Order: sequence, then structure tokens, then C-alpha cells
Amino acid sequence: MMEAFVHALTIDLEEWHDICGVPAIESDRRSLPSRLREDALRLLEMLDRRGSRGTFFVLGRVAETSPKLVEEVAASGHEIASHGHEHRMATETDEAGFVADLDRAARVLEAITGTRPQGHRAAAWSLGRAKFDGLAALVRRGYRYDSSLAAVRPLGRPDLPATPVRLTTPAGTIEEWPPLSASSPLGRYPVGFALGLRLLPNRVILKHLSRMAEQGRRAVLAVHPWELDPDPPRYRLPLGLHIAHYAGLGGMRDKLDDLLRHVKLERIDRLALPEPLGTVPTDD
Ligand SMILES: [Zn+2]
Repeated sequence: MMEAFVHALTIDLEEWHDICGVPAIESDRRSLPSRLREDALRLLEMLDRRGSRGTFFVLGRVAETSPKLVEEVAASGHEIASHGHEHRMATETDEAGFVADLDRAARVLEAITGTRPQGHRAAAWSLGRAKFDGLAALVRRGYRYDSSLAAVRPLGRPDLPATPVRLTTPAGTIEEWPPLSASSPLGRYPVGFALGLRLLPNRVILKHLSRMAEQGRRAVLAVHPWELDPDPPRYRLPLGLHIAHYAGLGGMRDKLDDLLRHVKLERIDRLALPEPLGTVPTDD
């Protein structure tokens, strides 16, 4: 077992059909079945049994329709942070629209938990591709951290920070907690999220986590409740999105459970950024 509470676990609390970039799904949404509650309770049970806690980035509109579930997540010891309200990508709005959506979600979450969210994650890791300074907007709204910058194409860019770090914006500083990725000759690839987490063997993921802990760095893993659903409802998606959404789901529940036997994960707000190291750590 790795030293307790070095790395972070994050969960986007949203429906299996909260998929960006598919206009048709917006109009079909009302008729699509909900799996949110059963998928989320399955994850809560697993985290409780394995002694890990996480940060739940809750979609405002999900909190509006399922306030009791959000209460249950908070009561289980997890952090409630913001995933925005409408799951609109930061690339599809301007700063005013982004802030309005952010504030709407914060109001819904605060009404349920009694505290304003300290952390934020944009839909589809889109903040790094926005045309405005999304991090500065978050600083102005009082957020302590963001977890939206993936250093992996096409979700983000390889020049974005790959490990948790404090960033300076024109409005002040903010912590950035990006999802775990690694570099290869073919470019950066996801390790702690999306297809990386689903398809890489756990021993490879654990090796990355151990090495980062040795280097005094923290890692962020990211899952969705629907990824623990071995047979989520099917929706016709473009090929790339189909793979991103459906590949590797079969064994994911057991895989995450096994991973949590070997490493205890913590909510972001309970982790401090590592002290600056004497030397710049080598990448990976
Ligand atoms: Zn999302």
C-alpha cells in the first residue's frame, strides 16, 4: 500500500448522456433513461469500503434535479465542487456566459451543502481552449482551484501543466490540478483519466503514482459514475466519441476497486500543493 493520501480522486457527477459536442442528444435528453443514482451509489459504496474519498464535480442541473444525491455524497465525506451548470464547453461561450453558468451552479450547490464550492472543472476539459482567461475568471469568483486543463490533445494541449501547480493570472493566483498524463514519443497520453485509466493495466497506473509520490508530486485521477456501469444505455455517437464513451467499460468497476486496494485517494481540498522542490522534477 502506497503512503496514504498523496494523490487525488475526482468524479464528475453527471449522467451517462451528459456528452459534449452532440447537438442531437440535447433534444433527446428528456427521454433518455437516468442511471445517475445507481451508478453514483455504486461508486460511493466502493469508496467507503476502500477508505478513499474524492472531489465530486457536480453539474448544477444534476444537483437541481437530484439534491438528495448531492447531500448523500457530501454526507459520505466527499467534497462537493462545481462542474458548471449546463455542461457547456468553455469554447462555446464567452466570459460573461461562462461566469453566469458558474454562478448558477454555485448557487444550487451552496443551497444544498451550505458552502460555496472551492473547486471547478469545465465540461470536457475545455477551459484551456477557451478564448478568454478562464482561470482569471475563476479567481475573480473566489475559487481556490481548477481541475480543467488536460495536457493531452485533443482535450487540451501538451504545453499545459501536467501536474498540480499554482498558476498566476492577471486577477491573482489559483491552483491547477490537471488529470494525470504521461509523455511518449507519440505525444502525451492520458493515464489517470478517460481511456488511459480504463485501458492501461493497474500496475502501470500504480507505477506512475509511486514515481510521482517519490518525486514529491501529486496526481489526479478522474472517473465518471457511468464508467462503473458495465452496460450503460447505448446512444449513437460519432466514432471518436463512441470509443471515448464506451471502450473499456466492461471491467472498469473491478479495475477501480482493485486500484483502490493499493492506493488511498483523497479529495482535492484536503491536499496541499507539494512544497517547491529543490530541483525541477523530470517529466515522467
Ligand atoms: Zn462532464
